[in-house]
Amino acid sequence: MTATGRELFGLPQKFKRKVRECVKEGEKKKEPEVSFLWACVGDGKLKATAGEQKAEQQSLSQQEWLTVVDEAASLGADWFVLSFMVSLSSCDDIWEVCKWAQDTHGMMVGLHVKTEKLTRRDVDKIKLLDLKQTRVLARDGALSRVKLKEDEKKELIIWRANPQEEGVPPNCQGPTRMIFVNAQGVLYTCGLVEGDADYHMGHILDKKLKGVMADANLPHHVHEEIHYVTPECDACPALIANYFKKNK
Ligand code: SF4
Repeated sequence: MTATGRELFGLPQKFKRKVRECVKEGEKKKEPEVSFLWACVGDGKLKATAGEQKAEQQSLSQQEWLTVVDEAASLGADWFVLSFMVSLSSCDDIWEVCKWAQDTHGMMVGLHVKTEKLTRRDVDKIKLLDLKQTRVLARDGALSRVKLKEDEKKELIIWRANPQEEGVPPNCQGPTRMIFVNAQGVLYTCGLVEGDADYHMGHILDKKLKGVMADANLPHHVHEEIHYVTPECDACPALIANYFKKNK
């Protein structure tokens, strides 16, 4: 083939390559960016026992939670916050998931204590984690009843779950880079609007998190009219990050 012939045939190839590169570049740009995974733990365990299976069909198994953590991490999440409505020590299978998040993905784990106190058993469970990669989140004074040993006082890092006063627009990074999942595995835009049908984003097992975060038809923002700090914003990683980033 002559040089001219090669050039003639080369042009479409180059063109195709360029188009492919542009498409790839475009796809890359569409990749959702996620920084935070925020999950609620409500029933004292991640999975219902056999007798309860029917009533709690939507509870996620430990394996499913591990998959959720993997997916969130693959999208860039480096924070995994769990809000406990029950005592930490009653949630046996959560600790493996937290350890997995820390050891496999290097995630920071936030344990948000919504109950009134932290018990000795809770503290012993927390100590199974990498404490440098762990933050306990609670309202001011909420954990005053726990008696920490001297070494625990140094090692356990406790942050305020409500760093901002209520009733003002939150100084948060917004929910666009956050996955919020309630104790039943239902996705909402963020904690502030949990339970509000307008902000429902499906069930965590319905489709891949990447698809959920990239779906422009789903509500990724909270309407300005209701965008004010309430107790539902407690421990929100998108809020906490703005106050404690330097401590990381
Ligand atoms: S829960 Fe509150 S602080 Fe967090 S993203 Fe929603 S509005 Fe912002």
